Amino acid sequence: MSSTLNVLLVEDSPTQALLTLAELEKVPGVQADHAVSLASALEFIAKNRYDVVLLDLTLPDSVGGETVRRFCGAAPDLAVVVLTNHDDDDQAMQALERGAQDYLLKASIESSGLSRTFRYAVHRKRAEIQVREARDEALEANRQLERRMRQINCLYAVSQALEAPELPLQVALDKVVGLIPTAWLMPETLGVRLTCINGLIPAGFVETEGFVETPWRLEAQVFTGARPAGRIEICWPQRHPPEGSEAFASSERELVRELARRVGQAMERACVQKELIQLATTDFLTEAFNRRHYMQTSGAEVQRAVRYGRPLSLLMLDLDNFKDINDRYGHAAGDEVLKALVMLARDLLRDQDIVGRLGGEEFAITLPETGLQAAVLVAERLRVRLADRDIAIHGAPPLRVTTSIGVAECRLSASEGLEACLGRADAALYRAKGQGRNRVEAAE
Ligand SMILES: [Mg+2]
Repeated sequence: MSSTLNVLLVEDSPTQALLTLAELEKVPGVQADHAVSLASALEFIAKNRYDVVLLDLTLPDSVGGETVRRFCGAAPDLAVVVLTNHDDDDQAMQALERGAQDYLLKASIESSGLSRTFRYAVHRKRAEIQVREARDEALEANRQLERRMRQINCLYAVSQALEAPELPLQVALDKVVGLIPTAWLMPETLGVRLTCINGLIPAGFVETEGFVETPWRLEAQVFTGARPAGRIEICWPQRHPPEGSEAFASSERELVRELARRVGQAMERACVQKELIQLATTDFLTEAFNRRHYMQTSGAEVQRAVRYGRPLSLLMLDLDNFKDINDRYGHAAGDEVLKALVMLARDLLRDQDIVGRLGGEEFAITLPETGLQAAVLVAERLRVRLADRDIAIHGAPPLRVTTSIGVAECRLSASEGLEACLGRADAALYRAKGQGRNRVEAAE
């Protein structure tokens, strides 16, 4: 404490003020100002620095404990000694509880005791401030600890969701989006969107209900390898958290980048898996199913048809004189013809129909929920469309090709399997070839 002690006397009674100021003058090193209301006291403390305030509780603009509460609220670091008229312990205790450091009876104010009272009040205030600061620091440390724990728990849960082999990517990303808010102290105040631009999930993004387009957000790009694959955006839709607050703190920015990195790795794994599945199931040239995958999926369709008594038909196709095309125009031209046939079939068929390349120029098509008559119509349409199509090839005028097709409906009553039914379709195809090609023949 400096040698001068600055004291503010807040006292509305002129007589009492005179008496108190007179006592104050006798205390060495005391410099006193005088305010007559709570409002003017607050003006004084805003303009000057004081060590101690002598506060009368009954003022024109505030009375009793309320006076202490309001004054201490406005000046939390200032030592306050309350002045009471009567020896009222209750009122004094109340004043202490509301933030005052000591109290004096107006009738017994004497210069001899004042110095000790002031020093005691200042000392006590300082101790209180230290306790308050230590408590605030502990609370803040606790808060930071919880923040870090939340971030770590979130990263851990996100990794688990992304690395769970049984979860499809869409489901995993849905989980991740739900988990991200838990990394913040107030998860309910933010929204999350995860955009995926590489076609791995049908909708192209997943988001929480609370996500809205707002400029107040954190975001990080997601990459698969060096390729942009999407982004994570975190928004605060209700209330804008101030820049530099926890919402935008560097550890939070780092967290979002880390989340984006892990999501990118999961997307990369999903891409590789998709490619592997593609390689394992489709014919590289035409993108029709390969023989193995065609037999697998069609076998399941046939079983289903037999189980539920639903019609199902098969088409066997063989391009006419395909060897001649290869011999005359080269294998590249032959490839174009094969691709054209599959593209045409795709245009004509429904999504649930299955097209497989069994080998060379031989294809099979499975038509679920289709009887023999309807299947023959489909085959006929395919045959006519192909025959009418100009197929562009390199270095020669467009080609026209034809196909022969055998059609068979699965014999449900005999629980006919895929192989047997394909065998009958193949026999019908053989007949179509024998009868001059560019024909559709139905099996018996
Ligand atoms: Mg008064």
